[in-house]
Amino acid sequence: MKHVYFFGNGEAEGAGLGKEALGGKGSGLAEMTALGIPVPPGFTIDTAVCADYTRGISLDGVRSEVDAALGRVEKTAGRRFGDPANPLLVSVRSGARSSMPGMMDTILNLGLTSKTLPGLAGASGERFALDCRRRFVEMYSDVVLRVPRHRFEQVLTAKKKERGVASDTELTAADLADVVRQDEAIVREALGRDFPDDPRDQLWGAIGAVFKSWDNERAKTYRRLHRIPDDWGTAVNVQAMVFGNRGETSATGVAFTRDPSTGEKKFYGEFLPNAQGEDVVAGIRTPRPLRSDGSGKSLEETMPAAYRELLRVRDLLEKRFRDMQDLEFTIEDERLYLLQTRNGKRTGFAAVRIATDMVDEGLIGEDEALSRVEPEQLVQLLAPVFPAKEKEAAIKAGRFLGKGLPAGPGAACGRIAFTAERAVKMAAEGKPVVLVREETSPEDIAGMHASAGILTTRGGMTSHAAVVARGMGKTCVVGAGEIGVDEAAHALKAKGKSAKEGDWISIDGTTGEVISGELPTRPSEVLQVAVERTLAPDASPIYRGFERILTWADRRRRLGVRANADTPTDARVAVVFGAQGIGLCRTEHMFFEEKRILAVRQMILADSAEGRRKALEKILPMQRADFVGIFREMGERPVTIRLLDPPLHEFLPNEEPALGKTAAELGVSVGALKDRVRQLHEMNPMLGHRGCRLGITHPEIYETQVRAIFEAAADVVRGGGKPRPEIMIPLVGTSAEFDRLKGLVDDVARKIEAETGQGIAYKTGTMIEIPRAALRAAQIAENCDFFSFGTNDLTQMTFGYSRDDAASFLPAYIEKGILPEDPFATLDQAGVGELVAIATKRGREARKDLKIGVCGEHGGDPRSIEFFHATGLDYVSCSPYRVPVARLAAARAALSEGKGGVSSTA
Ligand code: PEP
Ligand code: MG
Repeated sequence: MKHVYFFGNGEAEGAGLGKEALGGKGSGLAEMTALGIPVPPGFTIDTAVCADYTRGISLDGVRSEVDAALGRVEKTAGRRFGDPANPLLVSVRSGARSSMPGMMDTILNLGLTSKTLPGLAGASGERFALDCRRRFVEMYSDVVLRVPRHRFEQVLTAKKKERGVASDTELTAADLADVVRQDEAIVREALGRDFPDDPRDQLWGAIGAVFKSWDNERAKTYRRLHRIPDDWGTAVNVQAMVFGNRGETSATGVAFTRDPSTGEKKFYGEFLPNAQGEDVVAGIRTPRPLRSDGSGKSLEETMPAAYRELLRVRDLLEKRFRDMQDLEFTIEDERLYLLQTRNGKRTGFAAVRIATDMVDEGLIGEDEALSRVEPEQLVQLLAPVFPAKEKEAAIKAGRFLGKGLPAGPGAACGRIAFTAERAVKMAAEGKPVVLVREETSPEDIAGMHASAGILTTRGGMTSHAAVVARGMGKTCVVGAGEIGVDEAAHALKAKGKSAKEGDWISIDGTTGEVISGELPTRPSEVLQVAVERTLAPDASPIYRGFERILTWADRRRRLGVRANADTPTDARVAVVFGAQGIGLCRTEHMFFEEKRILAVRQMILADSAEGRRKALEKILPMQRADFVGIFREMGERPVTIRLLDPPLHEFLPNEEPALGKTAAELGVSVGALKDRVRQLHEMNPMLGHRGCRLGITHPEIYETQVRAIFEAAADVVRGGGKPRPEIMIPLVGTSAEFDRLKGLVDDVARKIEAETGQGIAYKTGTMIEIPRAALRAAQIAENCDFFSFGTNDLTQMTFGYSRDDAASFLPAYIEKGILPEDPFATLDQAGVGELVAIATKRGREARKDLKIGVCGEHGGDPRSIEFFHATGLDYVSCSPYRVPVARLAAARAALSEGKGGVSSTA
């Protein structure tokens, strides 16, 4: 079987074979060669050889193919490998299917030996040849011979010091000759033998080392993080060297065919004259622009012929790959050579702009445009951002405090408040606030609402702070464990620095970074158009691109998309972003409203059902008003309202000063209040007296809530509306629990119909969030209109991990590869997913028209959405700000059906 593919002089054996066989780099080189683009000749050893090699099979099987291909390279280049007079030098580079920048090894200038060095010196000058030799010995010794690089760096540093120069470009040929001698001595001393002086030995050593680098720790970690399978393997590319460091008419550079940060169709890139490839990336000298900028230093101005050729190449490549390309090039004596092309990485803004522009240019169709935008990238378009330059400068200045989980994307900057109360006060004084807590609880809602951003030092992606912040569209970083918060002393400490209440702090919820002090932010343009309505759609190309992508997505998706929304404001945002209904309205958030909490506490303190009813009567009109507002915003769309879920103790204070204040407000003694708090205390409240268990022991609570829903619906009907309430019972584990509470709902509905004369069409369903409920889905479904998977609790209970405390060990589990990722963020398809599939099947068998959705955090996660699509759910529900993500993810899931997964280039 053929494993080695030659390319050069317009001929490419591997053209059309693609990345799977040749890796990204090898495939790009073959395609460019076939297009007639100038590429130095070379050959690619395919990825299958790497897979064999890592399994212990020797490289002998490809030796004759490599020899033959090398012969063709020599012929095309007009130079021979190992020729003392005019030697061919080669580079040996890795290139996997999916780009793994900098993770694997590369060797340049290979083929330089004691015999070929004079030949190179004769053709290109002695200093140049010695500099190549120095770089080669260092790189080869590090990568192949495993002699640590720092030993060579010490030699170079000492030489520069001895000569009193700052840069190695100032060293003379004699200096470099001495450095090379010392480098070679280090190798001899470390290995007990000389540096290999036979070019073929060098070549095979390098090929083996590059294949081996597929399994270095760096590469393995990168693969785990980017979910790249371990058995893909890398290809190896051996290619004739061209030199960008041959003087002022030579150069090296990188270019993007469109702007990777905005997507604008303008050629974008940088170059350095008289430099080798790695110099641009290493940032030793300031690179120059490609396009003329009037400085007289651009490529366009200094090497116009090479620039024109580069423009021609840019057009050819965009037409061939129909995507934005990221190029590496070298100019040797004014001749342009391309060394690499690949689909360029881009921001969310650029992804949307490039995809829609390319549809307009006729390069791609609408379906392909959807595959060019990662759903997660849309979040960037909604979030305020820190300008990159300012953030980098702050980090450079030592202001970085630590990193947590990026729970709510965006940028927030404000003064630190350590309690929700302080946050509300400071915000009322007109100061932007960042609420900093060890973790948040429902009591903090008002403070969270008042804050520009939320930072916690504990908790994971479904902790209270994360869920609530996402729901509010707030910037949020959770679980920043390196930062210590002393809530009592009102101070935080990190990296030897401390900050007190009122000091400025900046948090980046897109990356998880926490930075001390102030940073400027820029608001999202999409929000200015869609929600704030302060910008006209026509004035925002970003908004128009965003809308077009989502319109195309809606044509393709089968899954419905709803929102988790608790207030009329959330509902309005949800509708603006295209939600087709509300999939979860968590009514407890309404109980926490500042004015209501007193009545709620009175209800909890009451020791009879009658007393509770009295207190509930005060809450009823307020809840009714909420539901009226939500129904009005949602029009004829369905609204799933979940009856009260959390344990009652969450509504009572637990800190001394708050206890005193609440006791006074309620007119009871502190002792009595404390007694009640003690009574309600539970070892593990997440498994305790919550959800439908509350509805069964305190039916008056649910009765009041259901009454509020139906009275609100009747009110809206009278006003000409057509509300569609769906009442959802949480935390059901047995059909008896559900049936009993369904009876309660029906009774109240009938009563209100009699009182108001208004019949309301409604549905009653349950959350499936206890494993037993998933298994007993058939029995529960019999009497039930819909299921909504509460995958937050279902994950918690399937794994037995407390969702609020798992952050103390989950990162270690993920790092050690025990779990592939956080199961609270991306559904565990094998375990929790099986329960979802079982419940779906059993539920539908018992009741064909059972509607099934999901309202846990996973409803907004693209990979989980792919699973929900494949499992045949009817809809997903997620926070309003993730609705666009879910729409696109659902479309991509539909498009990739039967194709073995969603492909992506961005
Ligand atoms: C869930 O458990 O997935 C859910 C949506 O409910 P909550 O997060 O409110 O417990
Ligand atoms: Mg739940």
